[in-house]
Amino acid sequence: MKLIMKFGGTSVQNAESVRRAVDIVYGRYSLQDRLLVVVSAKRGVTDRLITCAEGMVTSRDADEVAELVSYLLDGHLATLREVAPDFCEETSEIITRRIENLRDFLYAVYHLRELTVRSRDYIISFGERLNAPVISAALRQRGIPSMVLDGCEAGITTTANHGDAIALPAGEARIRARLEPILDHSVPVITGFMGCTEKGVVTTLGRSGSDYSATIIGAALQADEIWIWTDVDGIMTTDPRLVPEARVIPRISYIEVMELSYFGAKVMHSRSIEPAMQKGIPVRVKNTFNPEFPGTVIEGGELKESRVVKAITYIDKVAAITITGAQMVGRPGVARHIFSLLAEHQINVMMISQGSSEANISLIIEAHQVRTAMEALQPLKERCVFRDIAANEDVCAVAVVGSGMAGMAGTAGRTFSALGKAGINVMMISQGSSEVNISFVVRQEDGPRAVHVLHQEFELTKQELC
Ligand code: ADP
Ligand code: ASP
Ligand code: MG
Repeated sequence: MKLIMKFGGTSVQNAESVRRAVDIVYGRYSLQDRLLVVVSAKRGVTDRLITCAEGMVTSRDADEVAELVSYLLDGHLATLREVAPDFCEETSEIITRRIENLRDFLYAVYHLRELTVRSRDYIISFGERLNAPVISAALRQRGIPSMVLDGCEAGITTTANHGDAIALPAGEARIRARLEPILDHSVPVITGFMGCTEKGVVTTLGRSGSDYSATIIGAALQADEIWIWTDVDGIMTTDPRLVPEARVIPRISYIEVMELSYFGAKVMHSRSIEPAMQKGIPVRVKNTFNPEFPGTVIEGGELKESRVVKAITYIDKVAAITITGAQMVGRPGVARHIFSLLAEHQINVMMISQGSSEANISLIIEAHQVRTAMEALQPLKERCVFRDIAANEDVCAVAVVGSGMAGMAGTAGRTFSALGKAGINVMMISQGSSEVNISFVVRQEDGPRAVHVLHQEFELTKQELC
């Protein structure tokens, strides 16, 4: 079997978890699978890289760079010493050199007081670039031949929208040409999260992007399966941190996971399903801390539905923008103006709702883009395309997801009457035409309670029948 295994941050954060990951790889290696491993940065490292890089633009001193350098050096070398004593010397040289390179870049940001999107991507890709050599050395220590390639060397070719790049089809042949021959004699370890443009400029694939790296590679290599190793037993009926009674979903469709991840289920990167779906490759989500558990299989086709609603998800870092004005009524092109301007400013609109009177349009966007959106739309107000525009950041979005609700009457009714009974005021509603989700907006403080209420209403803690 040709298998891609991706290990997330918690699954490779210290020597103990790296050993666990190596055991998992060894298990499949001894079954003579053709394997490829994709790794994330250690948990927390990407956050620290982002904070430091952004901080250097305004910081009065560069002390934080030295702190970060010693944290990265100590952390990676300590793990390396434990998991790969025989390969310590050569690997620690690679890690030390990379950290020196990173340090120079951070100092450059400090001195120039400028962090371009390109330098930001280059800097934040270091988490994976420091971790991959450790994992590869640990595999070799276990007797598994292994080598490291970064996302760029692996052939992942992306658009130039830094920080959230999208894989280009042109990369497929490159990935195949570079990786396929290696699988015959080695288990390559690829740094997740990064790729590069046609011109070779480093890009990153968005937060949690290593999932995406795994499916891009899996699709290009036409893998038999892609396994995402994480810190929970699979995709669950909701975030277990929010509802501890959440239950694992044994089987779920690509489209349902796309909806879930798009609406905030952090368990998978929102674009990561698409490459697997296009090639019909099953994706399994499994727990490194409970590897025997079957986890969740994500696949296509008609899944026999035992229940209408599969999962509830919740996203809190959003804002609502409401545009009002009677002059929008019956006037063609208003929506086009609004959405073109937002697109020009790279603002992703997550939900849209327009009243039938057309006197208002409400949009949900990511909270960090509110200011940009308000500024982008201001010229339309000045040209009297609408009367008023307001932003509300005290909101969150909740989505009820399940392909079983397509064509089945009653889910929306049940959803909103349960919320009504609980005294939760719904501020905006949106249902995609695919009918795989019903999403709505409530005040931020009501979000977690809305998830609890609906988890109970749709009896999601009950054992799955199929
Ligand atoms: P990794 O570092 O392995 O990529 P992440 O932290 O990105 O892991 O994703 C796993 C986390 O996603 C879980 O610990 C869980 O809290 C969260 N999560 C949110 N929604 C869900 C869901 N519906 N099912 C499972 N996990 C979820
Ligand atoms: N390290 C990156 C992040 O923290 C990518 C990933 O973990 O998948 O977002
Ligand atoms: Mg993740």
